[in-house]
Amino acid sequence: MGLPGSFQHCCICGQSGATILCCKEGCNRWFHLPCAKEGGCVTQYIVPFRSYCPEHRPVQVVQVTPEPGTECPICMEPVEDRKTFNTIVCPACKRAWFHRDCLQGQAMCAGLLSFCCPLCRDRETFLVEVFFIGIRTPLRLVSFSVIHKTGGCKC
Ligand SMILES: [Zn+2]
Ligand SMILES: [Zn+2]
Ligand SMILES: [Zn+2]
Ligand SMILES: [Zn+2]
Repeated sequence: MGLPGSFQHCCICGQSGATILCCKEGCNRWFHLPCAKEGGCVTQYIVPFRSYCPEHRPVQVVQVTPEPGTECPICMEPVEDRKTFNTIVCPACKRAWFHRDCLQGQAMCAGLLSFCCPLCRDRETFLVEVFFIGIRTPLRLVSFSVIHKTGGCKC
């Protein structure tokens, strides 16, 4: 979306030349790809590609809060005491809490076919949720039908 060299202003850094538009109908917040993560914008790496500004980004609907002292099972560091942009909960067991960066790192390393919740081993609910909130896997374009096929790890 957006033409190269256009003068759309980025809603994060305020500079012109933003090329991504929030896909929420009626929202005209543009942003640069490099600004997206820092600014809390979310791109869903599933077909169809959708990007959202911080105000319209998808959020997890699960109504839970971490127990005090809950640790991210990936880095073993404590997570924040509430669900935030950077704190993600497994929608299946609702007990595993992750840092967004840790989850993203895990996704890149595990690959789509072996990516699951390290606590409850749930894949389907887990994958749908993490794609929904903007985690990407090494497969650039993923459709939900892929999730239901099983196979070996490719990495
Ligand atoms: Zn920017
Ligand atoms: Zn928006
Ligand atoms: Zn972590
Ligand atoms: Zn889980």
